[in-house]
Amino acid sequence: MAEMPFVDTDIEDECAMHATSELSIKKKRKRTIGREIEEGIERKKKKNKQYQPNYFISLPITNPKITGSIQAVQDAIIQKDQRFSKAMVRSGSLHVTMLVMHLSTEEEISIAVGALSDSKVFVDDLLKGKRVNLSFQGIDHFRNQVGFVNLAENDHTALLKEIAETMKKIFQEKGIMTGEERAFKPHLTFMKLSKSTELRKQVKKIDSSLYEGFKNHYFGDEILHRFDLCSMLKKKQPNGYYYCESSIVFGKSHEADLVKEALRRETQALLPRLNQIKELLTSPEIRTKISKELFEDRHNSNSKWKSCIDSEFPNA
Ligand code: AMP
Repeated sequence: MAEMPFVDTDIEDECAMHATSELSIKKKRKRTIGREIEEGIERKKKKNKQYQPNYFISLPITNPKITGSIQAVQDAIIQKDQRFSKAMVRSGSLHVTMLVMHLSTEEEISIAVGALSDSKVFVDDLLKGKRVNLSFQGIDHFRNQVGFVNLAENDHTALLKEIAETMKKIFQEKGIMTGEERAFKPHLTFMKLSKSTELRKQVKKIDSSLYEGFKNHYFGDEILHRFDLCSMLKKKQPNGYYYCESSIVFGKSHEADLVKEALRRETQALLPRLNQIKELLTSPEIRTKISKELFEDRHNSNSKWKSCIDSEFPNA
């Protein structure tokens, strides 16, 4: 639950605030009113829980430059105050939330899957073959409760906002209950106090001095390649990313690019060793040693074969 994007304990906090102010009502009526308030709070909590977002559309963040830099900020913060380790979003689940929604039945999930698939045509239409290159720079916060990396404001972010609005309309037209009345503010959350109730009791705010050295840091660019319909509550995947009901992919095969890039990196890592081997082979002593060993090997295996044949065909 603590890992849920958009989920925090604000609702309960608000209820608690009501409870404290109402409970100061005259002593005589305290018990009756107290019970009524409690029931009211329970009803409100139940209703809020019923409609709390439990699914979201995610834009996964996979660029190692971004995830690596985020790891560096998180490490720097934890080094200043160990308690914040509980607030950190793990590298595998870094994402930009495009839209949150509440889906209560399997039928609603399949309607949402359909809405996501319908969105593909509309998003392709908005993209017109262009690549959306999202540039992540600088750190900001929501009410000192959520720490996030900002998206640089440019044509690409404007396009992303347009995409988010279009998707919201598509989901709403299908009768899906989408959350958040406030305007879409694209951001990349890397820490939030709501991830740990224990931490929230100890720490009331994320002080900006904690990430001082990174306030204007450039984290890297992410090219939009996929949107996922993710569950906030279902068990995460082994790689740390959310459980996905379905996805839509953009641009040419991003997977192929990833494989190519991984192979390139592997080869790069092997190059120094290859050069070392080449250098060794230029040494005459090493070459003589290798020739000798090869000769011995060949001789040994010949003898092995010979004794094998001798034992199989003793009369040959
Ligand atoms: P997410 O990045 O989706 O995991 O969201 C992290 C937290 O940021 C959630 O608790 C949201 O309620 C909060 N949040 C998201 N957008 C806004 C916004 N525009 N203003 C204030 N809080 C927000």
